[in-house]
Amino acid sequence: MTDTVTYERRDAVAILTLNRPPVNAIDGSIRAGLMAGVAQANADDAVKAILIVGAGKSFSAGADLRELSGEAEAPSYADAYGAVETSAKPVIAALSGASFGGGVELALACHYRVATPETKLTLPEITLGIVPGAGATQRLPRLVGAMQALQIMVDGAPVPAAKAKDIGMIDAIVEGSALDGGLAYANTLIADGAAARPTRDKAVDATGFDKDAIDAYLKTKAKALKGRTTQNAILQAVQAAADLPFDQGLTIEKTVSDASLKSVEGKGLIHAFFADGAVGRIPGLDLNVKPAPINKAAVVGAGTMGGGIAMALADAGVPVALIEAEQANLDRGLATIRKNYEVQVTRGRITAEQLEQRMALIAPSLDYAAASDVDVVIEAVFENMEVKKAVMKKLDAVLPPHAILASNTSSLSMTELAAATSRPQNVIGLHFFVPANVMRLLEIVRGKQTSDQTIVTGLAVAKLLRKIGVVVGDDFGFVGNRMMMDGFWREADLMMVEGVSPQRVDKGVEAFGFAMGPAAVNDMAGIDVGTKMRAAGKLVRAQPSTYHVLGDALTEAGRIGSKSGAGFFRYEPGDRTGHEDPKVAQIAADLAKAHNIEQREISDEEIGERSALSLINVGAQILDDGVASRASDIDVIWNNGYGYPRWRGGPMQHADQLGLPKVLDRIRFYEARYGDAWKPSPLLVKLAEEGKSFADYDAAK
Ligand code: NAD
Repeated sequence: MTDTVTYERRDAVAILTLNRPPVNAIDGSIRAGLMAGVAQANADDAVKAILIVGAGKSFSAGADLRELSGEAEAPSYADAYGAVETSAKPVIAALSGASFGGGVELALACHYRVATPETKLTLPEITLGIVPGAGATQRLPRLVGAMQALQIMVDGAPVPAAKAKDIGMIDAIVEGSALDGGLAYANTLIADGAAARPTRDKAVDATGFDKDAIDAYLKTKAKALKGRTTQNAILQAVQAAADLPFDQGLTIEKTVSDASLKSVEGKGLIHAFFADGAVGRIPGLDLNVKPAPINKAAVVGAGTMGGGIAMALADAGVPVALIEAEQANLDRGLATIRKNYEVQVTRGRITAEQLEQRMALIAPSLDYAAASDVDVVIEAVFENMEVKKAVMKKLDAVLPPHAILASNTSSLSMTELAAATSRPQNVIGLHFFVPANVMRLLEIVRGKQTSDQTIVTGLAVAKLLRKIGVVVGDDFGFVGNRMMMDGFWREADLMMVEGVSPQRVDKGVEAFGFAMGPAAVNDMAGIDVGTKMRAAGKLVRAQPSTYHVLGDALTEAGRIGSKSGAGFFRYEPGDRTGHEDPKVAQIAADLAKAHNIEQREISDEEIGERSALSLINVGAQILDDGVASRASDIDVIWNNGYGYPRWRGGPMQHADQLGLPKVLDRIRFYEARYGDAWKPSPLLVKLAEEGKSFADYDAAK
């Protein structure tokens, strides 16, 4: 036996317990332990059945993901689960808690499966861009039919015990603990003289598993799986289960599963998973510091952002004072909040009662004194340093001494803002994204004087609001907006001046995998917002003369987006669809002439490449400047806040997948054409020349 699988006999039942805290992740030692346990039980005449359970709350969270990046230890899944399946004595899995991936696959290789009522079985591999590789694609179709199996693996969603029982994924739901219920079930099987029942020996029910039905189902997933291919690989394996003998099907599963691990989305999504987990490790932060409690909050400004932030707090059950300068704006803000909640009620996300409960948590006020007993206040007033400083000063005067002062600024210096208060150590940036009650990302901006406790509390706010908080440095636009302004959108603007229509720029960027193109996003958010932000940024950074000339010209012409009826696109009254507008082409042509820019044909590939490479280059610079602590933090920011195709892993992971020498080569190509805007970041040059990746850079830190 091994340390991670214990063996115990109770009467005629051998109990193998997966015991590898915290979640019984399956590694080589568990696989070896299972083989040894099954062998021992089969050699013991007193044993009539074998029960496999998980120690702790859950059966198993699945494969140890650390094995995914390197060579997996022996024995293989095929050998270990094959030994379980070919056991001469019946093997029963008793599932509990949240059981995932390789854990569920182990259960599928057992002869009988039972589960406690709260158990959820998930084959989530698709969310990591990979195909299950421990037999699920062959065994699940044999238990639940090919079509159902395909859906379970392509959805990647939890199957609750009751449903699992209905469809034949498990045999019974048991009372009490998995161990007690499993033992009772095993003893009943023994009493009934039940035999081993290998899943592999069953025939696959392929009823309804035809091209039309499969196409119709995959169509329902088209939006969620845009740009993805894992679903096709899963289909290939399930098709093999339907068409071929078990062992041949298993070989095909291995081929597609191994290939998925090396695919763009396999590498990308596994990277994104680990990157999300790494954000809480903050270099230089004192780990002993505890967050301050957050029992009450205030938000200043009831506009787009303030309203969304108040909703996010109310959703988390935190009472929040919503402070405005004028009654009319307060009324409008509250009405918008109510309307947004009403939409949630219509969609069945919350009940009418919850709507009222949440509204009741939001206390509107025109008086800053409403913040006199809060633990944290988040200001979301106009993006203007003087306005924000005045608000900070007023808050500083009424807040209790321990309270934290946060700003939702998109680009202004937190350090300068903090200096307007008597408590710069308590001042922090909490940069939310629209809509603030929905978007997962929170950039947590550390000013020069921000204390560790304030940062830790900022992270606690993120957790409370179920967001992913990434700590970033205090520089223009922080991480996300700077990469957007100085990289991605700068290039989009320039390409339009070079004669590419806003439609084509958006299409090219969407073809790369972004949810929305920059022209549409700008029109939605307001082109003037960017113009104002850049005006602030230009004070501190030199930019090429072509920097966002089109966006700024549109702002100047009053074409600030859908709210003004025209921006990069033209809008019909009452319709948010953007239409191509020859006026924009004319403005672009005039700008091209004025800036001596050649208008030319540009391919979709170039649109995608310039978008991706400009992000990478500015990202590398931000890393070098110390504004992001890790390349993977940059990826988290882009995946969660900017609609970057997560399956590519993020801009920096995309660079690693392309290979930094190639990235550098292409950036130099554009530098030769466009000059300094494309000057490669020194960090990128260094890593490329040393043959290293951004992942190597992160690992060395
Ligand atoms: P907005 O114009 O919709 O709302 C600002 C609100 O602040 C208005 O309702 C205004 O009445 C109120 N206000 C102004 N001065 C005030 C004062 N002295 N006291 C109380 N209330 C006051 O703006 P927004 O889009 O919500 O942006 C707010 C902040 O959030 C800005 O700093 C912006 O940069 C930042 N931000 C915006 C976005 C976005 O996409 N809209 C995203 C992230 C961050």
